[in-house]
Amino acid sequence: MVLPIVKYGDPILHQVCEPITAFDHELEALSKNMVETMYAAPGYGLAAPQVGLLKRFIVIDVRESLIVLANPELINAEGDQFEEEGCLSIPSFTAKVHRPSRVIVSGQDIHGKEKIIEGEGVLSRVLAHEIDHLNGVLFIDHLGAIKRDIIKRKIRKKVRAGEW
Ligand code: ZN
Repeated sequence: MVLPIVKYGDPILHQVCEPITAFDHELEALSKNMVETMYAAPGYGLAAPQVGLLKRFIVIDVRESLIVLANPELINAEGDQFEEEGCLSIPSFTAKVHRPSRVIVSGQDIHGKEKIIEGEGVLSRVLAHEIDHLNGVLFIDHLGAIKRDIIKRKIRKKVRAGEW
């Protein structure tokens, strides 16, 4: 089932998510629906708060292989990349954001089994972006005040025009 994606302006996107503690059928269903929603968008990744759930759960596919991760944690980050980035919750806006060029992330699969994911390039960027979501941080929070305010102003304009 494709779920509605929460857009910028909803306070849920600025909150810290709770850990996943139950690795049950409900999590399996959430995972399936989030994967479907990500592919339908289409996007490279999706975090649970983007579908209205304050849970530490992300799905990613940078067109390599599907990654589904509960309680992801950045355990190592190296290097720097500065590339254009967007977000399904802030549609039609992109900006260049600094991200680590390589990351190591720990987490659990939907059965609670420990997993280690190593990511470079685009995968490193998307992992950092999705983990940010679980801490209530959006890509525009990484921008300087002027660039961020320009985007916020344009969003407010879209909201007023009923285009958001
Ligand atoms: Zn995002």
